[in-house]
Amino acid sequence: MNYEDLKELVRYLKKVTKCSECNSHFVNDDISVLATIPLEAIFQLNCQKCSNTMLVNIGIKHERDHRAIVTEQDVKEMHNFLDNFNGDFKGLFNHSKK
Ligand SMILES: [Zn+2]
Repeated sequence: MNYEDLKELVRYLKKVTKCSECNSHFVNDDISVLATIPLEAIFQLNCQKCSNTMLVNIGIKHERDHRAIVTEQDVKEMHNFLDNFNGDFKGLFNHSKK
């Protein structure tokens, strides 16, 4: 993912994403990039008002001659996943084998 794509995603995050605890919008200083792959990035959002931390997986879809940022629904589903996920990857994979 190039710098222009990242900037676009950050603009998108600032526009549509709100803190899940106190509903405030994020600003540039609250947003840091944890990881990027060619069409997706994982952002960490730190709310300055209530110290809540959120992880957002967001990507850009390239469709023919136009680009679209993944829908808010996708972001919400990721939030739901992270809300219910305790960070135990080993347990997650063991569980899925049963
Ligand atoms: Zn907050």
